[in-house]
Amino acid sequence: MNVFGRVKTSINTREAAERYGVEVNRHGKALCPFHNDRNPSLFVDDDHYHCYACGEHGDVIDLTAKLFGLKLYEAAQKLAYDFGITQDKPPDKAMQEKQNRKSEAQRLRENEKLCFSALLEYMKLLQEWKRLYVPRTPEDKHDDRFVEACHNLDYVEYLVDLLIMGDSYERKEVIEMVMTDSKLQKLQKHLKKVRKEEKHIGEQEL
Ligand SMILES: [Zn+2]
Repeated sequence: MNVFGRVKTSINTREAAERYGVEVNRHGKALCPFHNDRNPSLFVDDDHYHCYACGEHGDVIDLTAKLFGLKLYEAAQKLAYDFGITQDKPPDKAMQEKQNRKSEAQRLRENEKLCFSALLEYMKLLQEWKRLYVPRTPEDKHDDRFVEACHNLDYVEYLVDLLIMGDSYERKEVIEMVMTDSKLQKLQKHLKKVRKEEKHIGEQEL
């Protein structure tokens, strides 16, 4: 692997940006150093950066070249030097960290799938309940399912919206929130119970 490959596979763009003085906030946003930026428009991810205002974008080597006015090869050399990556000494630690991040990203994607399918199923169920069990007359006792739908539907729709339309940080926050305190497991259990009950009712009606 040449110096470009070694640098790209072992150095995180965000870490390099921070090391070279670009302050990246927890949403991955920073004040863009390539134009006169007043609100953070630069988005810095693990393997690239992009400015939503001036359009600058690239990988860790492009970033370093732009910041220091270097040629790409010089920028790669600088990164290799600054992050201790040499040809004869493979960047074990850097490589390991990169792999850990990768598996973390994978885990996040898997969790996102689980959260999304459970929330989507719950949302459809609540929408159906709200329609089916709405009290028809003022004297009707409120059905528990209708009450549950009234309590939870707006919020669940909001979470599903965020998972569909939100940026990666909003989605991550939703996933983390749903994964804490075994909320997801409780929801899955609830859905399973409902499915079982509905199947039972279906059988009775036959
Ligand atoms: Zn910019």
